[in-house]
Amino acid sequence: MDCPVCKIELNKKSIKGIEVDECEKCEGIWCDNDELKQVKDKTDSDLNWMDFDIWKHPERFKAKSAKNHCPNCKQAMDVLDYDNTKIEIDYCKQCKGTWLDKNELENIIAALEEELLTKSVNDYVKATVEEAKELISNPESFLSEWKDFSTILRFLQYRILSLHPEIHDTMVSFQKNPFNR
Ligand SMILES: [Zn+2]
Ligand SMILES: [Zn+2]
Repeated sequence: MDCPVCKIELNKKSIKGIEVDECEKCEGIWCDNDELKQVKDKTDSDLNWMDFDIWKHPERFKAKSAKNHCPNCKQAMDVLDYDNTKIEIDYCKQCKGTWLDKNELENIIAALEEELLTKSVNDYVKATVEEAKELISNPESFLSEWKDFSTILRFLQYRILSLHPEIHDTMVSFQKNPFNR
């Protein structure tokens, strides 16, 4: 599988037991739908993520055509972008995988950080976002060293599911989902 941006082979990386494909040149990562499901299985139910504003307003996400093609099935991907943030996620409708370039990770982390300033969240969440920030700003670091990379995948999971309700059937138990409360 090749990087949709650089067209070079992606490397398999295991991040906290979650397998993703990473481009060593642009540091983008590809997550297929199974990987998102793995994150779902691994996530703790008592974390405070549902308090974040960016999870609460699926209607603020818009989809448009992306210039990148899916590294898996070669379809043109969609870009999902969120309201007043710079978050843009490349998403393949066909295989339901997601491409995150390094920039997109930075933007997601920046949006989470901004919320940390305005909300009272638990220490675990604060530590995770701090760690993510350091990792992204340090050119020597690798995603695989990130203790809670699943944070970001979890973000994607909720975003994508809320936009594409047909996928709900393939996932289990959404009692913790803020949109069903
Ligand atoms: Zn690349
Ligand atoms: Zn695809």
